[in-house]
Amino acid sequence: MTKSIRCADVGSECKWSTTAKTEEELMKKIAEHAKEKHKDMKITPEIVAKIKSHIKES
Ligand SMILES: [Zn+2]
Repeated sequence: MTKSIRCADVGSECKWSTTAKTEEELMKKIAEHAKEKHKDMKITPEIVAKIKSHIKES
């Protein structure tokens, strides 16, 4: 199973997307991306919930 997320799913106009084997790894990649590209984006519990609701498994 691969989990994937697109930055655009979280409401940003960004074409970045990533995949990971676990949700933990995925969240880590998202946090790193946000730190690098979206300095004003705060990883709040609301954002985390939004991200999790958009995670796709394939
Ligand atoms: Zn992004």
